[in-house]
Amino acid sequence: MDQNIDTKCVQAGYQPGNGEPRTLPLIQSTTFKYTTSEQMGRLFDLEEEGYFYTRLQNPTNDQVAAKICALEGGAAATLTSSGQAATFLSIFNICGTGDHIVCSSALYGGTYNLISVTMKRMGIDCTFVHPDCSPSQLQAAFKPNTKALFAESLANPAMIVLDFEKFANAAHGFGVPLIVDNTFPTPINCRPFEWGADIVTHSTTKYMDGHGTTVGGAIVDSGNFDWESHKDRFPGLTTPDDSYHGVIYTQRFGKKAYITKAVAQLMRDLGMIPSPANSFYLNTHLESLAVRMQRHCSNAQAVAEYLLVHPKVTWVKYPGLPSDEHYSLAQKYLPDGSCGVVSFGVTGGREQISAFTDNLQLASIVTHVADTRTCVLYPAGTTHRQMSDEDLLAAGVRPDLIRLSVGIENHEDIINDLDQALDRL
Ligand SMILES: *Cc1c(COP(=O)(O)O)cnc(C)c1O
Repeated sequence: MDQNIDTKCVQAGYQPGNGEPRTLPLIQSTTFKYTTSEQMGRLFDLEEEGYFYTRLQNPTNDQVAAKICALEGGAAATLTSSGQAATFLSIFNICGTGDHIVCSSALYGGTYNLISVTMKRMGIDCTFVHPDCSPSQLQAAFKPNTKALFAESLANPAMIVLDFEKFANAAHGFGVPLIVDNTFPTPINCRPFEWGADIVTHSTTKYMDGHGTTVGGAIVDSGNFDWESHKDRFPGLTTPDDSYHGVIYTQRFGKKAYITKAVAQLMRDLGMIPSPANSFYLNTHLESLAVRMQRHCSNAQAVAEYLLVHPKVTWVKYPGLPSDEHYSLAQKYLPDGSCGVVSFGVTGGREQISAFTDNLQLASIVTHVADTRTCVLYPAGTTHRQMSDEDLLAAGVRPDLIRLSVGIENHEDIINDLDQALDRL
C-alpha cells in the first residue's frame, strides 16, 4: 500500500525481518566474507547481487539510499560523500571531454565553481541560462554535443523557483535528461519527477540531515529517461563497458542503468562514498524531515512577513510572499511551502550588512543553511566571494543579499532577535 510521504520518512528503506534489529544496523565494515572465490567472482562481474567492498556498496548506505529513493519516487538511488560529489557524478556519468551541458545560472556557489571552472578544465563545457528566460532562449543554448540540462528546484541563495515544465520540455525536446538539484525544498515540498525531471541530486548536508552533523549527498534516478532512444548521445550507457567485460548498462539493468553505472564504474574509480556511520546519522535525521520542514516553512513565512514591513529592510525574497515574483510558480510547484531560507537586504552598505549579522544573538553566523538552529550568512562576503558583482547578479544573488536560514525554534524568539539587531543599526 502506498504511504504518505511523512510516513515514508519514518518507515521507508530498512525493513527488518523476524528477530532482526528494529533500527537500521550500522554496518561499519569495509569488507564482506565469502566461502568461495567463485561466488565473489560473480559479484565482481555484476552477475549476482551482494556486498564485497564498501567503496562500491554497503548495506547501511544502501538502505538510506532506498529511503531517499522512496521519498523522491525514483527507480534507483545512491548516496555520495557530499552534495558536490552528487552534482559532479550526476553529470560526469553521462558527459566527458568534448561534451556540453546547459545549466541554470541561479546556482549554489560551489556548483557554479564546479561547473564553470573545474569541469570546464576536464573538457566539459557549459552554457548558463537564467532560469526565468523564455523557452526560445533556453532552446537556443543547446548544441549538438549537449548531454544534459541542470538546474536547482529552488535556487540557493537566490530563492528562484524553477519552472519545471519549461525546463523539462526543453530537455526532452532536445533529447537529454533534466537533472534537478532538489536540496532546498526536499521531496517533502517538491518531487521533481512529478514535473518531468529525470534525475534528482541532493546535498543531504542541508535539510535531510538538518542538524548540522553530516556532510553527504544523493543521486536519484526516475528511471524514465529513454537512453536507448538517444543511443548515440549516451554511449557510456548504451554500448559495452570494457571495464566490466562488455556489460551494456541499459540492456542489463533497465531502469537502474544510470545508477548502476554510477556505482559500478564511477564509485569504483573515484570513491566518493559516504561513511556508513554518516549514513546512519542521516537515516535518524530523515525520520523527522517532514515535521521539521513544516516548522521551517511556517517560521520562515512569519519571518518573511515581519521583514517585509520593516522600515530598515529594503527588500525580501521568499516565494511564500504573495508579492514575490516567484509566488505563482511556488503555488504551482511548491504548494505546501518552499523551505526555511529567506533572503533580504538592509539599508546601508557592506558595513551595515556586517553590523546587522554581528548584532544577531540567537542566529549564528555560519557557512551553512537548513539547520534546526537559525543561522545567517552574507554570501557576497563569504561563499560567493569568488564571483564578480556581475556574476552574482546573473546567479540571482544581489551583492547586498543576506541569507537567513530560519530554524525550528519558536518564531517569536527568531523575530525578536531580528528586531533587536535591526534596532541597533
Ligand atoms: C550545499 C549545497 C550543495 C553542495 O553540497 P555539499 O554537501 O556541501 O557538498 C549543492 N547544492 C545545493 C543547492 C546546496 O545548497
